[in-house]
This record gives sequence, C-alpha cells and structure tokens, in this order.
Amino acid sequence: MDTLPIDQLMALDRRHVWHPYAAMPGTGPVFAVKSAQGVYLELETGDRLVDGMSSWWACIHGYNHPRLNQAAQAQMGRMSHVMFGGLTHQPAVQLAQKLVQMTPAPLQHVFFCDSGSVAVEVAMKMAIQYWYNRGETQKQHFLTIRHGYHGDTFAAMAVCDPVNGMHHLFRHSLVEQYFADAPQIPFEGVWEDGDIASFEAILERYHGEIAAAILEPVVQGAGGMRFYSPPYVRRARELCDEYGVLLILDEIATGFGRTGKLFACQYADISPDILCVGKALTGGFMSLAATLTTTHISETFAQGEAGVFMHGPTFMGNPLACAVALENLTLLESYDWATKIFAIEAQLKRELAPCRDLPAVKDVRVLGAIGVVELHEPVDLAVVQPQFVAQGVWLRPFGRLVYTMPPYIVEPEQLKQITQAIYEVLSLNP
Ligand SMILES: *Cc1c(COP(=O)(O)O)cnc(C)c1O
Repeated sequence: MDTLPIDQLMALDRRHVWHPYAAMPGTGPVFAVKSAQGVYLELETGDRLVDGMSSWWACIHGYNHPRLNQAAQAQMGRMSHVMFGGLTHQPAVQLAQKLVQMTPAPLQHVFFCDSGSVAVEVAMKMAIQYWYNRGETQKQHFLTIRHGYHGDTFAAMAVCDPVNGMHHLFRHSLVEQYFADAPQIPFEGVWEDGDIASFEAILERYHGEIAAAILEPVVQGAGGMRFYSPPYVRRARELCDEYGVLLILDEIATGFGRTGKLFACQYADISPDILCVGKALTGGFMSLAATLTTTHISETFAQGEAGVFMHGPTFMGNPLACAVALENLTLLESYDWATKIFAIEAQLKRELAPCRDLPAVKDVRVLGAIGVVELHEPVDLAVVQPQFVAQGVWLRPFGRLVYTMPPYIVEPEQLKQITQAIYEVLSLNP
C-alpha cells in the first residue's frame, strides 16, 4: 500500500468514506491516524494524542500490544480463517472455555458473532426460539428500559432508546417493543422498589407475549452514560423469573472489568439467561463478540421444530479474532486489573470534580474507569473536537455528554492530561 499525501487522503475521505453517525460528504472534523502505540494515537500531522476513548471501550490494553500482535501473527501462520460449519479449531474452543470460566457459572455455551449488534440479534433470536421450542409461540416481544443502547441493526435498534434512536424514522420497518421508564436511582443511591414499578407493570400485563427483558446492567452506555442502582438489576432478575420471561444482559460495553467488576451484573450478584459480550473482547484488536447462554436454554433446541438454532454468520468463530481474544483475556487475568480500575476511578473522581463548578456542567459522575461530564446543552463537535486535539487528547463527546473510558494501562500523568483537557475545553465553551 502506498502512502497518500495528507491533503489527498483527507479529500478522498470526504468524497468517498462514510463515517459513523455522519453525513456524506462529511461535515465534522476528521483526523487521520498514522499509527497507535500504548495509550497514544499518532496522527498523520505528527501530533500525538492520549486516547481517552479506548476506541469505544475496546482497546483496554492499549494499541499495538506486543502480546496481541504475537498471538495474531502466530495464528496467521496457521490460518486466518476457516468456515465454522462442521469445522472447529483450537482458538475458538479455548476462547469458549475461557469465556465460560470467566462469566457467571450458569452460562455454559458460547455463540460467536462478528459484532456487538449481531450478538444482540443472536440473543433476541435465541430467546424467541427458546419459547417456540417450548410451544410458547406467542412470546416474541421484548421489554427494555429507556436510555438503553444495544446496537444499530434492526432488532437491536428496536430496543434502543426510541428518542435517541429516532425510531419514528424507521417506524414501518421496526418492531415496537415495550419500554419501561429508565431507572432513576443512581449507582450509590438508596434502593426503593418504586424505581422498577414501570418495568413490573409491563411484565404483569404483557408477560404472555414477552420473550425476554434486555438490559445493560448498572451502566447504560451510548444511550446516555447513566449509572443506576444494582438492586434494580437484582429486582429485574426476580421479576423476570416470577413472570416467566428470560433476562438478556448486554455487557458489550461493561464486560471485562470496565466498571470495577469483571461483569457489571456481579454488582447485583445475579446472572442472566443470555449474556452478550463484545467490544473489549479482543482488546480492540479486531471485531469479535459472543452470546452466552445456559444449558436450560440450549437443551430445548434439539427438541424444537427447527431442531437447531437458526443463525450462522460466514465469519463465525474467526480463528484470528479468537486467538487474539484468548490472549487478551489471558493478559487481563495476569495482573490485578481491579486495583488499576479503582485507581483510575479515584483519580477521575478527584480530577473531574472541579468541572462541577463550570457553568456549562450539569452533572459529573464516575464509575470504575468511566468518567462522565454531562452538560446542560449539546456540545458542538466541530468546535470542541479540534480543541481536544489541540490539548493533545482524543475524546469524542456526543450530545450533552463529554466522557472518557481510557485504556486500563493509562498512567496517572496521562489520565491527568485527559481530565485537564476536559476542564480546559469546557471552560472555553461556557
Ligand atoms: C457498542 C454496543 C453495542 C453494539 O456493538 P457493535 O459492535 O457496535 O455492533 C451493543 N450494546 C452495547 C451496550 C454497546 O455498547
């Protein structure tokens, strides 16, 4: 591959390349990355930025990690891909074993997918087909909570927040699902049962047609960066059991330590019937996700009408992705990540607190290695994005939210650069 001059690169990017949640041709600022190392992104312009985003929760051990590179290279020398229908291989089997061992005990079976959205689609299909296998063919709807985010494909989108997700645009193609009020009691708040009343009322009335409830436990990510009370998740588990509805937990953002627990559902001491993981699974190396379930659910499939689970992506169980994921999880288990996360949490709490005094700021909240500054008004990305870059920091705010979830390997002085940049940029934009 030849290297294009930067002007030409940016002109071609604007002309041909569609970016996430962007217009075409692009309107917002875009920065070209030449390489990345540890917590740094190296731009084509020569600037070096401390990464505050972990490339959307994924790159937990930093970029260009020698162990992940080595795992990929070793696997590439054997095979980078082979179909998964009727074939299996060391990386997929060993990764499945590792996932089963790391996740709550009832989860025993792993379905590999290529992205988080697909892991959610798979979870939803699994729930519907489970009830079908048991002769309950009317249970095909889903219950979720407002301010959720579960991905951009149709079934996943149907359980995303209807306002953020602009459901009205897609209303003739999108299945209408049940939305409970978003939990209001914060992570450390005192629990009251009234917080889950709307969730319970929907279950009471419609449980006969609901296959599963789907939630992001404790931390709602892209739908609002909200942290809510673990007892809500515990009560949701009890109510699902009481009303004969499965519980799907979407830990695509929260999984693998980000909140201070390996999985956020451990704050509530419960386990789901179906669990989705993704994002940090390969340490940001490449796309891979998985949907895990229990034997109680999986064993119904052989008896069902189809006799099998009706899903199977072309690149399912990609050996390269599985080998890297296995190495990434082995790496995660090799050090005291929880102490590191709580150190990041303490520093974020300390250093983001002054933002509370800025006129633009409505709320500051921190949980694990996630720091959120919520504003009164939406940020103008065209203005603030270059300001963050000028501060030597990579952050990507959305709406009224400026937030950071740095790689776990971030050093205190690098994290300080991130928190100072947030303070500086928000002071410039009152
Ligand atoms: C990012 C995300 C998804 C979607 O994952 P993709 O890999 O982008 O398809 C689903 N659920 C949650 C909670 C996420 O954060």
